[in-house]
Amino acid sequence: MTATDHASSVDAVIVGAGIAGLYQLHRLRGLGMSTRVFETGDDVGGTWYWNRYPGARCDVESMSYSYSFSPELEQEWEWTERYPAQPEILRYVSHVADRFDLRRDVTFRTRVVSAAFDEPAGRWRVVTDTGETVDARFLIMATGCLSRAKDIDIDGIATFGGTTLHTSRWPHDGVDLTGQRVAVIGTGSSAVQSIPIIAEQAAELTVFQRTPAYSLAARNRPLEPDEVADMKAGYRAWREAQRTSGFGVPVEPATQSALEVGAEERTARYEAGWRRGTLVSILGGYTDTLTDAAANETAAEFVRQKIRDRVDDPGTAELLCPRSYPFGTKRPCLDTGYYETFNLPHVSLVDLRRTPLVELTATGVRTSERTHDVDVVVFATGFDAMTGALEAVDIRGRDGVLLREKWAEGPRSYLGLAVAGFPNLFTVTGPSSPSVLSNMIVSIEQHVDWITDCLASLRDRGVGTIEASTAAEDEWVAHVAEVGGATLYPTADSWYMGSNVPGKPRVFMAYIGGVGAYRELCDAVAADGYRGFRLDEVPG
Ligand code: NAP
Repeated sequence: MTATDHASSVDAVIVGAGIAGLYQLHRLRGLGMSTRVFETGDDVGGTWYWNRYPGARCDVESMSYSYSFSPELEQEWEWTERYPAQPEILRYVSHVADRFDLRRDVTFRTRVVSAAFDEPAGRWRVVTDTGETVDARFLIMATGCLSRAKDIDIDGIATFGGTTLHTSRWPHDGVDLTGQRVAVIGTGSSAVQSIPIIAEQAAELTVFQRTPAYSLAARNRPLEPDEVADMKAGYRAWREAQRTSGFGVPVEPATQSALEVGAEERTARYEAGWRRGTLVSILGGYTDTLTDAAANETAAEFVRQKIRDRVDDPGTAELLCPRSYPFGTKRPCLDTGYYETFNLPHVSLVDLRRTPLVELTATGVRTSERTHDVDVVVFATGFDAMTGALEAVDIRGRDGVLLREKWAEGPRSYLGLAVAGFPNLFTVTGPSSPSVLSNMIVSIEQHVDWITDCLASLRDRGVGTIEASTAAEDEWVAHVAEVGGATLYPTADSWYMGSNVPGKPRVFMAYIGGVGAYRELCDAVAADGYRGFRLDEVPG
């Protein structure tokens, strides 16, 4: 226990003890700030605490998807696989919490339900579901981009007599599906990863697909001691390359349009990308894959051919081939044996475009064609991404304005870090920052470092409140839309666009200007005396 454990007045409240919240706590401790962290789960880990479905694994390589702030941590932690599985990531986050003694400032099993800005005092009043009220000068939301499951918009769930599971809330003790007839609804990343493992156990597996994914073979494998040693020897340069890259993952920059080379050369390049088995290895092959529909189609067709190569039945293969949106404009998946699973005799695919899902019945899943009797339904139906976890808290800024209402037509934010009318509120990897379009840990560290430097600077200058101006926010929102509008992203119905959630405004919610360029912009804002922010002295 420390002095801040039960303090009801602190310098900062951080919401969330995932990768972002923990690092933010560590940095604020470095400033000597009293801090309390509230976390709904009963331990650290955030996304990786909750998403325990079979096969859950990161799609960024482990030695890149890890904190860079401590060279000692980097050297001492041993990743075992190229792509880390959820239990290993959770062990890593837990190790970080132990190593830096972070848990003592975290209040677990506690959800922040509301936060209101007290204008005269210039402080946030934060209320939890355990009835505690804490007041803090700064409120830092580290609630994650994919942490609030989307409400399941399927009728009849209460009628179903079997077991229902959601990939993002998988029981901590696991579930034995041996001998069960299982339905999986959804074919995004969570489904693509879990389906092969569920198929190993289930007596029958039926996959209900509305929109097929573009999934690439992950080529996961154990890490070799030599490559780990090489990576550790060159870690500083690698981290620098991550920070200045486009997606937080260093790649050789493309120099040519996909359309200015011949088909043979293009296929050879895609094939090399395919063999590397990373999310960006095909996407990053040419300059215009994400901006020109014809260029994109060359990559999309290459991936479709790989799907056909992996699926025995040509009809099933065609159903699994995405056609309704460009490659990369919905987050692509990395899989281990996903398509091959459909070659198994007890696995079948239902095309919900042809026979729409009507409802769950007492015995199974009813489509417009028939009822599929099952014992278990797994919802892999995704998240209310990017804004969902922020809007779930009743956050009120100046004049009692509710963040959720301010964002009714889509999120408005300056740099994805701060919101006009909400002084001293920071959103780590908030909407309109690179966040989900990057290696999340690179973007988390960049935001946390920026926020920490900002708070240190405010303290040095005797500033009590910092608030984004409406003009700066408007300009940033317009810039994010302009940069996004120059790409193919807005052409897809994706969770990047909010269009997976009925009624959610259709807005491209991430900044595609690149991790490196974005960092420069944020640093320039700080160097310019926090341009676009209003700074006021401590009230009273
Ligand atoms: P998702 O990508 O949003 O996929 C949800 C799936 O459920 C889609 O196929 C969707 O179909 C379907 N669906 C939703 N509502 C439905 C309904 N009412 N009826 C039928 N189908 C429905 O969600 P996710 O798979 O959980 O992944 C979300 C994101 O989390 C990923 O894109 C990724 O960024 C992250 N993630 C990462 C990893 C990793 O690191 N490897 C793993 C898991 C998740 P439609 O497309 O037609 O809406």
